[in-house]
Order: sequence, then structure tokens, then C-alpha cells
Amino acid sequence: MSTPKIVRTKKELQTHVQRWHRAGQKVGLVPTMGALHHGHLSLVDYIAHSVDKIIATIFVNPTQFGAGEDLDSYPRQEKQDLEALSRTACDLVFIPDASEIYPDGFSTTVSLSGITEILEGAKRPGHFDGVATVVTKLLLMSRCNVAVFGEKDYQQLAVIKQVTKDLDLPVTILGAPLIREKDGLAASSRNAYLSEKERAIAAHLNQVLKECVTLIHTGTPLREAERIARQSLLDIGFESIDYITIVDPTSLKQLDSVTDINTARLLAVARLGRVRLLDNMPV
Ligand code: AMP
Repeated sequence: MSTPKIVRTKKELQTHVQRWHRAGQKVGLVPTMGALHHGHLSLVDYIAHSVDKIIATIFVNPTQFGAGEDLDSYPRQEKQDLEALSRTACDLVFIPDASEIYPDGFSTTVSLSGITEILEGAKRPGHFDGVATVVTKLLLMSRCNVAVFGEKDYQQLAVIKQVTKDLDLPVTILGAPLIREKDGLAASSRNAYLSEKERAIAAHLNQVLKECVTLIHTGTPLREAERIARQSLLDIGFESIDYITIVDPTSLKQLDSVTDINTARLLAVARLGRVRLLDNMPV
């Protein structure tokens, strides 16, 4: 492990990648918004098995934040992030300014129908257009062969797989497992916004989802299992539940029944204070 090289422009990025490609090396991309935790770092370990060189990107993408969301207060900690990456197999970190990604006159949006209109897309209009646009740009400008995204943001992963397929982007997309804190809470940069009391409540989200899966396995109808889980979360102290739903893992459409429980995914978002806590697991 050694300190990765830092680049801030597309041109510098491409100079390195061209050199690697000329040497026959396979290049992997790990896109992030920084404020790195062990969930992000696990993506570097995960992609290391598939590529020779690893690029991490740190870019708080303004176009995926809605009005009133936390763009301005989103944690930015470049120095700590670089220290954390220096303890991984990362070779290069791309840290562009917004003007490098969206120069004056930028006017293209990558927009998907269907999958982006439900769940997170319904709660955060325009969010996935911002994600799909920036990820498409990062995949193309880095000329990477493989890119990895966390199952933590399960819908985001599904959206990116869809864009890559629809636009024939020459990249393999990998989904890496969701990494949790010791008490089961999904690791997230936004967990830092939780008060001590909220943090204690937050750990129960994962517990309730596990109980919901058990209910399904013991024959509880899906709508009933979702209803019981929702009520448990409210009783525990979550302020509201944006959704708790059992879906098809590719289309993310809600399922009415599961004939094959291996092909269903439980997705949930619960609110505590200003934080929306995302979690999901296979049924
Ligand atoms: P973000 O910085 O939140 O945009 O996340 C960058 C990447 O890290 C995305 O692919 C996320 O899905 C992934 N990620 C974030 N938290 C986790 C986690 N707890 N486990 C696995 N992947 C994660």
C-alpha cells in the first residue's frame, strides 16, 4: 500500500489510464462522494480482485442533490480520505472541481424512465438523473474496464446497471456487499448527522428488517410482513418510514408474493432527525 497519486483534471486522469492500458492493464473505478468509511474502502478491496489498477473518485455531485438537501453541509474531508485510501490498493484518486465535470455550457442529462420514478426516485425527484449523468461521465472519461458500486444503495446500483446496458457502455459493473457497523447499522457518511439518541435507535432498522425476512420465511403474506415491520420501526422511535417493501431485484417493482424467495429484495428507508437511513437485504 502506498499514497495514491492525486489528479484533478480529466486530462491528467486520462494520461495515467492510457499508460496503463498500453501496458495491458485492466483499470477499475470506485466512484464516491468522499467522507470515506469502511464501506467505501471495502469497494476498493472488492474491485482489486478484478483489475490491475484502481482509481477512486471523490466528487460531491451537485446535480444529484435536490433543493433543501444537504449539498452545502455534506461532509468534506479530503485529507482524511486520502489517508484512508493510502491504506488500500488504490493507485490514483481523481478529485475534480465541479467546473471540470460540468463546464460552462454543459447541457446533457442522462435520464431513465421506470426504475428511477419509484422508491428513492419518488422521494428525491431528479436525484437519479444527476447520478446517471455523473456516473456515465466518470465511466467514459476514466475509460475504466470495471466499476464497482455498493449494494448499500441498491436502487442506485440497479439504475447504473440499466444505463450501462441501455447505452452499451464498455464497462463491467460490479455490486459489492453492504458493509455494516458492529451493531448492524449500514455504514454511511450521513450517520455522522445522528445524535447519540438517534444513533442508538438507528441500529434497530437492520434488526427489524431481519425479523421481517423471518416473517416472510414462515409464511406471513408480504403486505402483512411489511405492515408489521413498519409498525415496529415506529414503536422503536423512528419518526417516519418512507418505504419498506419487498421488490423484484432487477425492476425493483413491488412483489405481491414470492414464489422463489431467493429472487426478492427487502428495501427500506426510515427517517430519524434529518437523516434518511437506507437499508436492504435479500429475502
Ligand atoms: P457515496 O459516497 O455515498 O456516494 O457512496 C459511494 C459508493 O460507496 C456507492 O457505490 C455506495 O453504494 C458505496 N457505499 C456507501 N456506503 C456503503 C456501505 N455501507 N457498504 C457498501 N457500499 C457502500
